[in-house]
Amino acid sequence: MSQKTRVRFAPSPTGPLHIGGVRTALYNYLFAKKNNGTFILRIEDTDQKRYVPKAEQYIIDSLNWAGIPFDEGPGKNEMLGPYRQSERKELYRQYAQELIDKDKAYYAFDTSEDLDRYRNEYQEAGKTFIYNWHNREKLNNSLSLDENIVKQKLEAGEAYVIRFKTPLNDTLELYDLIRGEMRIDTHTLDDKVLFKSDGMPTYHLANIVDDHLMEISHVIRGEEWLPSLALHHLLYEAFNWEAPKFAHLPLILKPVGKGKLSKRDGDQLGFPVFPLNYTDEKTGETSQGYREAGYFPEAFVNMLALLGWNPGDEREVMGLEDLIAAFDLENVSKSGAKFDIEKTKWFQHQYMQKQSLEELTQAFLPILKEKTDKIFETAYVSKVIGLLQERAIFVADFWELGSYFFKAPDTFDEKAVKKAWKEDTTEIVSNLLIFLQEQTDFTSSILEENVKAWIQSQELGFGRVLMPLRLSLVGSMQGPHVFDIMEMIGKEATLKRLQYASANI
Ligand code: GLU
Repeated sequence: MSQKTRVRFAPSPTGPLHIGGVRTALYNYLFAKKNNGTFILRIEDTDQKRYVPKAEQYIIDSLNWAGIPFDEGPGKNEMLGPYRQSERKELYRQYAQELIDKDKAYYAFDTSEDLDRYRNEYQEAGKTFIYNWHNREKLNNSLSLDENIVKQKLEAGEAYVIRFKTPLNDTLELYDLIRGEMRIDTHTLDDKVLFKSDGMPTYHLANIVDDHLMEISHVIRGEEWLPSLALHHLLYEAFNWEAPKFAHLPLILKPVGKGKLSKRDGDQLGFPVFPLNYTDEKTGETSQGYREAGYFPEAFVNMLALLGWNPGDEREVMGLEDLIAAFDLENVSKSGAKFDIEKTKWFQHQYMQKQSLEELTQAFLPILKEKTDKIFETAYVSKVIGLLQERAIFVADFWELGSYFFKAPDTFDEKAVKKAWKEDTTEIVSNLLIFLQEQTDFTSSILEENVKAWIQSQELGFGRVLMPLRLSLVGSMQGPHVFDIMEMIGKEATLKRLQYASANI
C-alpha cells in the first residue's frame, strides 16, 4: 500500500446525485487536499438493472459546479484505470477465481426459486434464512456437490453465482476513524454473492478489488455501508491485502421528523435535494437543483461541509481553502445532521454579501434582459444592485426587490394604497409635481433637503407626502431611501410615475 493519501468517491450512476452524495465527495475532496493527496472518481456501474446512462455526466457536472473536481477518474489521468467498473469486468472474474482456488469462495447453483422457497419455509417456522456456515453444506453448491458434477454443470453453462465462504468462529475487531472500535461475530454474517450470474461482480467484490488496485488509503463513505465493513474486512484478509482505513459518515436527516433526507422532503417543504436540475427520463419530471435555484456553489459547499462536521471552533462562513485547512475526520460527528433550509439560505445570503458588484451585475444582466426589452447601462445596473445587495439572497431577488428601477409600476399594492392615499393626496401630489418640475438638481441629498423643506412650508406631515411618493415610484411601500430611488430613475421617470399614480389610484 502506498503511503500517499488516495481517496475515492464511488457513486453508482443510477440517477441524480443526492446532496448526501455530494457531501461524501466533498469530505473526500477536503481530506485529499488537506493531506496533499489524490481525489479519485470511480463509477460503480456493475448493477445493469439500475444503470442510467446520463447519470455519470450528471455526477461529473455536479462535482465541477461545486468546485471539487476529481484528480483521477473517467477520461482524466487514468493511471490506475479504467475508472468505470463496467470496463474492468474481466479483472473481477480473475479475482473471484483466485478466491475459489484458495477455498475462500464457492460456486452456488441455487436458483432464485429455490432460495425464495427456503426463505418462505424458514419464515413459516419463525426463522430467517441465512445462506452461510450452518446450511451451506446442504445447499446446491460446489461445497456440497461432487467435484465432477460441479465441473459438468460449469461446462454445461448452468447459471451460477460465486459466494464468499465466510469464515466461522471469528470475532472481528473493526476500526472506524469516526466511530472507533467495533466487534463483529462472523457467525452472524451470510455468504454474500461476490459474482453474479450475469457475469458482473457485486458491489462488494468490485469495490474491494478496485480500492486495492487503485491504492486507496482511506475509504470515506456513507453510514449505510457500515454493515458491509465486516465483509470487506474479511475480503481483504482472504486476498491477503492490507485494508485501507475506513470512515463512515453520518446521515443527512430530514428537517422535521425522523430518518434520512429524501427527495420527498424537498418536494414537500420546497427546497432542492440535488445539486443540479435533473429530469427523470421515465416520468419526465424535473427536480430542481441548487444551481438552478440560484445558490452560489461556494454557499452550497460551505453549507454541506458543516452538515456533519465542524472546524472545532465557532467559524461558519468558510471558503474552500479554509475548509481544506481545517478539515479533519475527528471532527465529523457520529450522529446524523439535520438539514436546515433556513441555515442554507443564511449561507447563501452571507456569500451574496461577499460578491463584487461586477460579478453580480454579470449574473443579473441575463435575467434583466428576459424581464424587460430595454437595454440598461451596466453602471446603472451595478448601482441598483449596490442598493439592494444587503437584502438580496439570490441574484433573481434583484428583480423581485427592485423591478421599479427598470420599469414603472403598473399595479399598486392595495394595503399600501389604503394607507398612503387619502382624500387630499391627489391634490398634494399635483402640488408636489409642480415643485419637482422646477428642480434642476436630482441628486439624492439635495432633493431630500429641498423636498423636506417644501413639505414643511406646506405645513404637511412627512408621511402625507413621502408615502404617496414612494407608492407612486415603487408600487408598494418597499425599497431603499426614496430620494435614492428618485436620483436613480431621474426626473422624467419620477414625474411620469407620479402623474400615472394620480390618474390611476
Ligand atoms: N457504489 C457505492 C455507492 O453508491 C459506493 C460505496 C463505497 O463508497 O464503498 O454509494
